[in-house]
Order: sequence, then C-alpha cells, then structure tokens
Amino acid sequence: MADTAAPSAEEVGVYYDEMADFAKLLFGDSIHMGYWDDEAGQTVSEAQDRLTQVIIDTTGASAGQRLIDVGSGTGRPAVLLAQQTGASIVGINVSVGQVASATALARDSGVSDLVTFAVADAMDIPYPEGSFDLVWAMESLSHMKDRVAALREMQRVLKVGGRLVVTDISEIAEMDPGDRELLFTCFLMSSLEAHDRYPEVVREAGFELVAVHDLTPRVNTTLERVAEGYVQKRDKIVARYGEDFAREVDGDFPRLGAAMRNCLGYLLIVARKPAA
Ligand code: SAH
Repeated sequence: MADTAAPSAEEVGVYYDEMADFAKLLFGDSIHMGYWDDEAGQTVSEAQDRLTQVIIDTTGASAGQRLIDVGSGTGRPAVLLAQQTGASIVGINVSVGQVASATALARDSGVSDLVTFAVADAMDIPYPEGSFDLVWAMESLSHMKDRVAALREMQRVLKVGGRLVVTDISEIAEMDPGDRELLFTCFLMSSLEAHDRYPEVVREAGFELVAVHDLTPRVNTTLERVAEGYVQKRDKIVARYGEDFAREVDGDFPRLGAAMRNCLGYLLIVARKPAA
C-alpha cells in the first residue's frame, strides 16, 4: 500500500524540524499517540507517557543492555526508558532539529551517559550487524516507503535472540480516500499497513513473533482529544501562526479524529531475531 508520491527521508526530517513548535503546542513533550484508560481528565501528554510506559514495560529492557530507538522523535521515550531500566540507548532520527533537542533533553535529565542521539536514516542504520540487544520503533515505520526493508534493516543490527518492539497505527477499515490523503499529508506518512496483515509483515522481514497486543480501543481516540485541545488552544495558535494558518487547519483535526476512531487500529508487536 505504498503511496506513489511518498516523501523522502530528508523531506520527513525537514518536516519534523519545521513542525516542532506546533507539535509541542498541540501534543506536548512527545510526538505519538496516547493510551486512554478509565481515568478521567487525562491530558494528551499524560496519555502519551502512559503509552510510553506500556511499551517500556513490554521491552523488558535492563541495565547493561544496548538499545536502538529508530525514529526517536523528541527523545522523551528514550530518556524515560533509560531512567527506568538503566539500559543504554542510541536514538536515530532524520530530523536534525530533533536530534539536537533530544540531546539537550538527555543532558538536562542527567542521562547523557546512557542516552545519545544521531542523525541517521532507518533504511541504512550506521551500525554493524548484531550491535543491539533490542530495537524499538514507535510510530516511525509509517514514514517509510518499504516497511519490510526497514524491518529487515532493524533485524540486521539486532543480535541473534534480540527483541524488536514496534508500535504503529494500522488500517482496520478502509479509509475514505480524502481522509487518507489528509492523514498522509498532515503526518507526512508513506504507508499504512492493514491491521490484520501487520504481524505477517514483521514475519516476512525475518522475525519470529513473540506477542501481538492490539491497543486499538485504548489509543484510537487520541486524535479526537487532540482536536479538542486544538479548539482550546486556538487563540494561542492564531497569535503564533496567524488567522490564515488556523483557518486552513481548523477542520483537519476533527476530521482526522473521526477517521482514526472509525478506521485506524494500533498495534504493539514484539518479535525476536531467530538464529540464522
Ligand atoms: N518514536 C517517537 C517519534 C515518533 S514520530 C515517539 O514515539 O515519540 C516519527 C519519528 O520518526 C520522527 O522523529 C521522524 O523524524 C522519525 N523518522 C521518520 N522517518 C525516518 C527515517 N527514515 N529514519 C530515521 N528516522 C525517521
């Protein structure tokens, strides 16, 4: 399901550089979905940290292990993981700006001995085969045109027996073409995998599946919550970016919120690199 006009890795990097300020205003300290449980009144940021926590718990990472975070965003997930587990992590990212701000975050959080960030493309990871005990990729694969090739590259840098932890949105019900285009444009995505097929794609890339957690009902209201937040923050958005900008994006988040609830899923997949 690759999009023919898929953006290049460089374009994705520039996009994240340019939207950093707006994304922080809208989402908070991380750029990923949230995990909503029965607790009332969770903010998007709190729900994001909860999702990060669910994923950290799933990694089973421990002190002394070496991890790679592929598409490391603001760096907050890697910093939280290192603080809790003592594992060392390198985050790779095509956004030069995010690498700089994530490096500052690691320093300010007192974990720069454990957490570092580097500008690198996930399709060509600059580490030798078998370098890592664990690869985690949260919501970065949808930016990559060839998901199997990206997963194979993650497989290459893993040690035999090492774990892959991937989270991503997926397509549960066919999206309206206009909604799909809006989703791809707003988040500069290259691909969206079918929900039921996703585990098979991980297997195709040479992994052995360990567990597939379907987090859809916990996650798929995120963009609706973001849409609510957008309305509350609209004055601030107008002050910073102008009325014309706000008018252009006013309808986007309600539409994306509904599209997500109706058509998108969310998977947390754990897999292992088998012996050759
Ligand atoms: N994993 C983070 C960020 C998710 S946003 C989190 O969950 O909070 C997607 C991230 O993937 C962005 O930081 C983007 O710059 C990065 N990314 C997208 N394509 C990439 C590629 N080809 N190589 C490396 N990083 C990439």
